[in-house]
Parts: sequence; structure tokens; C-alpha cells
Amino acid sequence: MTEIDKEVWICAVCDGICVEDAGRWVHPGPSSTLQSRRTCSDPHPSRIAKPREIKDGQARYPKEKYKIEQRLECLGPVEAADVAIVGYWRPNTGSPRQPKGCGYLASSGHYGCGATTTPSRFDGPGTLAAEARALIWAVRRMVPAYRTTLLTDRPEIAELIESWRGGNTAAVTPGYDSSDRPSGKEAQLTRTARQVYRYADTVSVQLVNGSADNVLTIGAHELSFIGWQWCAEVITKETARERALRKASSALGVEPRLAPGASQPDYR
Ligand SMILES: [Zn+2]
Repeated sequence: MTEIDKEVWICAVCDGICVEDAGRWVHPGPSSTLQSRRTCSDPHPSRIAKPREIKDGQARYPKEKYKIEQRLECLGPVEAADVAIVGYWRPNTGSPRQPKGCGYLASSGHYGCGATTTPSRFDGPGTLAAEARALIWAVRRMVPAYRTTLLTDRPEIAELIESWRGGNTAAVTPGYDSSDRPSGKEAQLTRTARQVYRYADTVSVQLVNGSADNVLTIGAHELSFIGWQWCAEVITKETARERALRKASSALGVEPRLAPGASQPDYR
């Protein structure tokens, strides 16, 4: 009988396979492969890998989308808006689903709450990938309809937006794969980059301190956490919808009432 194979796990940080070696978790395999370049430096085992995943060297997930977008009533017509964008991530230990929570909250009453389970080999790892996703959602919703100031507490995101405004639309977050998707579609962050460049006169970015008293950033953080919980199945979609409405309205200091006809189609 040969030695029993080590258990192979899926890493919660990068979706690569990982094994325990001398008391440490590591990403195995030759360091020259494409997959190995996408693995992280600090593996966090989340669940046992399936045979097919061990062969591929990475997790396989169905593509899913969790997204609620709304607008609050009683803020009236506005031409300019500040929009806070926040991503939330932590390992969802024991589950095949590794949500990256996303939230945005605008002074115009627009808000978004949800999560993505896009594999890290496309999005890059962790919180920054979640933050980029929130940025994609907010830009799609606000630009060019409003003169928009994007608020972020991440210097990397602020620099990214400035790069786009300056014409470098190839800039992406670390680990993000900007090549066309298997479906042939353009990568969403690249599409967002072109949108920001095209309307650079109407888009600006402001680096904020997330823990300070910026109500939009605090609200967006709560929305991203609600999105994470919904996708992780800690709460139901109905609960997510109610909490998002309550958090967004209290952050803006308005009644929890939606503007008529403001709902975007939900996913999931
Ligand atoms: Zn990893």
C-alpha cells in the first residue's frame, strides 16, 4: 500500500488548491504554470477539493450574482452626487461559496447591495476585488447621468480611477484578469475604465477615512456586509432587502421609502 495522499483543500483567498505541509498551508505545484501565478501567498483552507478541482488546480463554481439596486424617495432631483463604494470579504469557512460583498450608497438616494462569487482567478483576491466590483456597479448606475464623486477609503482604488481618468484604461486591480471572458464578453472592470475615461469631466474620486464620520461610507460598508451575509446564506433575500432599505435610509436621514419605478431588476 502506498502512502495515503494528503488531503487537498480549496483556498478561500485565491480559489487555488492548497495542502498542509509541515504544519503550514501551502499552494503546491510547479511555480511556472499560469494557475500558480494566480495563487496567493497566505492560503486559507475553506473546504475539501473535489477530484476535478484537484486536476484543474483550482475551484469550480457556478456563476452567481446577488444584487439589489434601489433609489430612495424624497431626495428630489439632483445633478451631482457623492457615491461611497465599499467591498467586504472574509473567508466563508466550510462553504463552497466564497462571497465578495459589495455596497454603494449615493447622496442622490441610489444604493446597491449584493455580492459576487466570481472566481478569484478572474477577479483577484479578497477585499480589493469586492471593492472593484462595487465600483463597477456604482459607475454603471451613476455615470454619466450624474456628476459623480466616488468616495473610497482604499488608495489603490482611488489611484485606479485617476489612472482611468488620465487615459490608462488598461489599469486594473492586482490579480484582475482583463482578457475577454470565455463567453467573448469584455471584462467588466475594463468596460468601467472606458466609461470613466469617456466621461472623465463628470467623474472624480475622493479618498476618505472609512472609520471617520462619513455617513455614505459607513452606510456602504453596512450594505456590503448585508450582501455578503445574503450570499453566504446567513440571511434571506427578503431580510437583505429590508435591512438594506433601513440602513441606506437611516444613513441618509430620510424615510425608508423607495422612489416609484426606481427598482432595478434583481438578480437571484
Ligand atoms: Zn490561496
